[in-house]
Amino acid sequence: MTGTGTDAAARAAATGTLEARNLVKDFRLRSGLRASTLHAVKDVSFTLERGRTIALVGESGSGKSTIARMIAKLEHPSSGSILLDGVPSATRGRALEAYRREVQMVFQDPFASLNPFHTIRHHIERPIRIHHPQLSGAEVRARALQLLERVRLTPAATFADRRPHELSGGQRQRVAIARALAPGARFIVADEPVSMLDVSIRLGVLNLLADLQREQGLGVLYITHDLATARHFSDEILVMYRGDIVERGASDDVILNARHEYTRSLRQAAADPERLGALRDEVRRASAGAGQRTPAS
Ligand code: ADP
Ligand code: MG
Repeated sequence: MTGTGTDAAARAAATGTLEARNLVKDFRLRSGLRASTLHAVKDVSFTLERGRTIALVGESGSGKSTIARMIAKLEHPSSGSILLDGVPSATRGRALEAYRREVQMVFQDPFASLNPFHTIRHHIERPIRIHHPQLSGAEVRARALQLLERVRLTPAATFADRRPHELSGGQRQRVAIARALAPGARFIVADEPVSMLDVSIRLGVLNLLADLQREQGLGVLYITHDLATARHFSDEILVMYRGDIVERGASDDVILNARHEYTRSLRQAAADPERLGALRDEVRRASAGAGQRTPAS
């Protein structure tokens, strides 16, 4: 390793970074005798720092989830690499386990992502036990309750022994977030985390992610097709179109000075300045009320 490489790695470890470097994903498709290649992700690079949120925005089919799955190590890139704190991440064994501890995913569908047969407690305690085998049973239980409190499912004891069907979509998504935090994650990839929730409770869940990002220095990759929440909740926006990042920059710049035709059309479709103002007010109200939600929320 060169001197500058070592410096870069040391700097990255001090702050904490998750970097996608020239990620490419091709899918081989076969229909009848014809085979073809779908270039789902073409050459995507970005660096997410701890305590920051990057929004990955784009229409359906643009490659967002494929990027999420590669970063969560659910899918191998065709080429390119993923670096944690400047170090290329492993693909197997203990080093992969260590990576998974640090980088966790929250999926779109809170109904499909929790096991209906298990209690909420089980969902949270299991990853704690797997990733921290040195903890005693009592410590695991205490930590699970703390996590439920942290995602504002309070009092935690009243949620711990319920099963997913007894919770609302928003509450389930909070459980999914607690589960992601359970191993000790520093980075969260949230793939359209609120698009299946009632509009009225979306902001509460996004506020929670924002609070965690601030309180714990979590790095969040927020995937969405909603430019308004992308602007409000992220520091940086990457706009994807057909596998490419076509526009990127500080959130306000991307929205206000959209250069790419596609971003302009997204902006027209998704958000106007008035809606952003209204969103801000809603966010304030929702954060004031977070944690005091009834089980129906
Ligand atoms: P987004 O999340 O932005 O909607 P995806 O990453 O899910 O987009 O998909 C990007 C493209 O890759 C789409 O054209 C999709 O059909 C294709 N794709 C995704 N996963 C697979 C797969 N396992 N096999 C073949 N094609 C896939
Ligand atoms: Mg998707």
